[in-house]
Amino acid sequence: MSNHRADHRGPKRATYPSAAGQTGGRRRALKHAAKSNFRKVPGGPAVIGAAALAIAAVGAISMGPGVNPASANSDVKFSSGSASALSGTDAFSFFSERDSRAQAISRDSQRQALQDAAKVKLKAAAEDQMQQRNAALSNLRNLAEKRATQIAKDLWVLPTVGYHLTARFGMAGGLWANNHTGLDFAAPTGTPIFAVANGVISETGWAGSYGNRTIETLTDGTEIWYAHQSAINVHSGETVTGGETIGAIGSTGNTTGPHVHIEVRPGGGDPVDPYPAFVYHGVTP
Ligand SMILES: [Zn+2]
Repeated sequence: MSNHRADHRGPKRATYPSAAGQTGGRRRALKHAAKSNFRKVPGGPAVIGAAALAIAAVGAISMGPGVNPASANSDVKFSSGSASALSGTDAFSFFSERDSRAQAISRDSQRQALQDAAKVKLKAAAEDQMQQRNAALSNLRNLAEKRATQIAKDLWVLPTVGYHLTARFGMAGGLWANNHTGLDFAAPTGTPIFAVANGVISETGWAGSYGNRTIETLTDGTEIWYAHQSAINVHSGETVTGGETIGAIGSTGNTTGPHVHIEVRPGGGDPVDPYPAFVYHGVTP
């Protein structure tokens, strides 16, 4: 680089003293050049060339990696403008190359900054969306859990296995003083009887035509009567869960064969048809 500079200054400097006629000529020429038209100043190109070289050199120095892009940019504009006005030399083209590279780097960093800003925006939007979705999912999960708990609480199970229905609710017949007040599940003696839902055993024992009977009060206050049992496996006050074995099928009381007679009495009142009650609570007898 110093070789280039020496080459250019060398021949042109020779004409200088004659044009300016004094030692301060160079400084004056520079002043002129700064004022207006470069080309009107005698020996101008050589002088400006030197000035531009100096500016370009400063630009080059200040344009190292990690330099402030704003200040690098202003240097670049100034020196590249001078270079094109003065029809470049090797030195100038070298600096122009440096300049355009610096500009490219500057453009790249600007583009990068824009991309980074866009990425930050996108990320924030995505996080927002994620939070909203998580909240919605959490709500759904809470609802599902609530519903599951509700179902688990209300779901009934059938009172025995391997049965067939022999007498429906409301049937008339010689066996009953009034119409049939329950639903009969016929199965061999000794077949287990299950609590149809969670509840508390409120009464056990002999009950006339019902034979051996267990009364369970469910959590909603509905009474379930289990009649004609051959065995009673629970006692009054005991808490039972749906599906738990509470006794065994028999033919005690007023019966024509082994079965469990089920009555459903909402709130401990009059009996209702057990069949739709089972269906309502999720099982079909
Ligand atoms: Zn019956």
